[in-house]
Amino acid sequence: MARLPIVMLGADILRQKAEAVPTPGPELDRLVADMFETMYDAHGIGLAAPQIGRSERLIVLDVKEDEATPMALLNPVVVESGGGKDRVEEGCLSIPGVTASVERPYTCVVEATDAKGQPVRIEAQGMLARCLQHEIDHLDGVLFTDRISPIKRKMVLAKYRKLAEK
Ligand SMILES: [Zn+2]
Repeated sequence: MARLPIVMLGADILRQKAEAVPTPGPELDRLVADMFETMYDAHGIGLAAPQIGRSERLIVLDVKEDEATPMALLNPVVVESGGGKDRVEEGCLSIPGVTASVERPYTCVVEATDAKGQPVRIEAQGMLARCLQHEIDHLDGVLFTDRISPIKRKMVLAKYRKLAEK
């Protein structure tokens, strides 16, 4: 396994819609293992392929609520969401050092295939639902800073730039 470099805010790939869906097989297994290593090493709970420089519809996550629950999903789609709006502080491995309170639906249902190509349906709530929505946003070129007010965004990005300069 190998740690991969994480792409930072400002890179075009973070703003592109990922079109390609990876094909299950040994190469994908290796990529998924590397993405998990990269995510755990950075103390993250989710990582999307564009964040490691690949424009592909692939995410990994592990929200570790009670015990480790690693998940790798190909072509994940939010098919339902609800449960009322929920506000929680979010961060992103591509925008390190800053967080902001982001409003998202409390529950969602995601359909995808797993890394072996088997269909999966996940009924999620709370942190898992939030993490899934955040990572799936990455596949469409959307960042959490797009989901906060313009004033808050300005503050968060100014703070990030200041930290990035150091
Ligand atoms: Zn992120």
